[in-house]
Amino acid sequence: MTTQYLDLFARLTENSDGGKREFLEIGRLAGSFPAASVRSSGPVTGRDSISVWCSNDYLGMGQHPAVLKAMKDAIDEYGAGAGGSRNIGGTNHYHVLLERELAALHGKDEALLFTSGYTANDGALSVIAGRMEKCVVFSDALNHASIIDGLRHSRAQKQIFRHNDPAHLEELIAAADPDVPKLIVAESVYSMNGDIAPLSEIADIAKRHGAMTYLDEVHAVGMYGPEGAGIAAREGIADDFTVIMGTLAKGFGTTGGYIAGPAEIIEAVRMFSRSFVFTTALAPAVAAGALAAVHHLRSSEVEREQLWSNAQLMHRLLNERGIPFISDQTHIVSVMVGDEAVCKRMSALLLDRHGIYVQAINAPSVRVGEEILRVAPGAVHTADDVREFVDALSQVWEEVGSARVPATPAAL
Ligand code: PMP
Repeated sequence: MTTQYLDLFARLTENSDGGKREFLEIGRLAGSFPAASVRSSGPVTGRDSISVWCSNDYLGMGQHPAVLKAMKDAIDEYGAGAGGSRNIGGTNHYHVLLERELAALHGKDEALLFTSGYTANDGALSVIAGRMEKCVVFSDALNHASIIDGLRHSRAQKQIFRHNDPAHLEELIAAADPDVPKLIVAESVYSMNGDIAPLSEIADIAKRHGAMTYLDEVHAVGMYGPEGAGIAAREGIADDFTVIMGTLAKGFGTTGGYIAGPAEIIEAVRMFSRSFVFTTALAPAVAAGALAAVHHLRSSEVEREQLWSNAQLMHRLLNERGIPFISDQTHIVSVMVGDEAVCKRMSALLLDRHGIYVQAINAPSVRVGEEILRVAPGAVHTADDVREFVDALSQVWEEVGSARVPATPAAL
């Protein structure tokens, strides 16, 4: 390996530590306490524990006894790994059961598992958009990196509509050749803003222009809708979305991703998706754990109710304290800081003084000048936890939040 390549990589990171310092610090702290104190639950007891406020295990299913038992039992029964790719020896009983459960959850013909939500979007979109000749894709400006990568891999023509702006989508789609296949791609809950897409308008535009629809419900499945089936299901329009995509790593507390949709599409993705075909299947124990989580959340409202009551309490308290956040539509509460250094300082102070861990979100996850503290109250927090969190945040906000400076987009 010649050094110029290494230099190139070094140059890419020379002006930033990429959050490495905080990363190492959190790792060190997390490693030095018993697991219980770094779960996304637990009281803030000074320096003896860390209270986590940025976990995507929103419903606490990663610690749920039914999920843990299912995983342990599956390990005893089937061992640690899948032993192969899905098509070559790696398919297990639990993969099949989980795919059936997910298809039933979304009311679709079939579902297909991937090893992560990232690979699900990448693999599914590269096939769906890539195999329809002359397909034009209409993609929301804030769609996740995995969607962007899947569309890049598809090599389909792409048009970006302004975030959550159906009028702009309509304008772009109306200007496209009426005879080419079209695909609209959106998220239901946006990961960094925590806002919700105008799904019925999108579905209506799709119908009028004969477009297929692909909906990423990663931050919604488990949390919203009847049986946790997501936002489209909550609005009674899941049928209007051709493919619904989800993760097992957030509301369902484990790991893995999936799509659910018509049998023809699922079959094509199963055959041609490189991120499905050329990788080892999910460990059976993970599939068993996810199955237990989906199963539990289809019949239990307890976690959803607790999550939503904590989220609403946090919205109310932040409003009372005058702390700005992007959206009160979901449990993703993105406190608008707008400056990388201030954001990191707030995160560090919360940790050092209050034993609270909430990660500063900087570029490339958000644009320069739009830095946030992405707070995720979970079902495992109590109302008192939320109050303590907001008290601590208010103190830090008073101290350094006012030092915010205007964005310098040129810095990128
Ligand atoms: N889609 C969205 C909207 C996401 O936010 C994420 C991850 N944060 C993914 C897909 C990828 O999911 P996973 O973490 O399961 O790979």
